[in-house]
Amino acid sequence: MKTWDFEATSVDETARFGTAIADSIRGGDVIGLRGDLGAGKTTLVSSVAVALGVQRHEISSPTFVLLKEYAGRIPIYHFDAYRLGDPDEFTALGADELLADEGLCLIEWVDRVASLLPADRLTIDAITTGVDSRRFRLQSGGTRSTELLTSIAIHCKD
Ligand code: ADP
Ligand code: MG
Repeated sequence: MKTWDFEATSVDETARFGTAIADSIRGGDVIGLRGDLGAGKTTLVSSVAVALGVQRHEISSPTFVLLKEYAGRIPIYHFDAYRLGDPDEFTALGADELLADEGLCLIEWVDRVASLLPADRLTIDAITTGVDSRRFRLQSGGTRSTELLTSIAIHCKD
């Protein structure tokens, strides 16, 4: 539908990008993340959570857990499908209810569960472009996610 790139030259710039996402999301939005290990997916999710009012000490890497929930301005459901054996496990986590909920769903390794997600979601590819630089490539899949992408792009220019 629509694509847009954000170039982060530092972790601080990634945090600024995360704040732009937090300022643009609406309850019920779904964001899928792709990219190699170390590309910055979890770092970005943490920035979004902090911008939504979650205390940094409450945030832990969900690499060893499939789902973390945070109480931000709206509920945040942070999935990591990296260690998911089977898409059925995603359903067993209660993903359907959480996707239908008025929270924000952020899903790392989204390709593993793509068939279980609404088509109208924002996909973010994290690409390592240097030691401290990352490219975040946004791609929308429907009307709402295109609106979200547009809002994020506007907020990043602030
Ligand atoms: P992933 O979840 O994609 O495996 P992580 O977020 O866990 O990646 O790790 C990213 C690593 O890269 C962290 O150690 C982080 O400090 C580092 N890093 C360096 N520069 C950046 C940047 N601009 N944005 C995000 N992470 C960065
Ligand atoms: Mg991660």
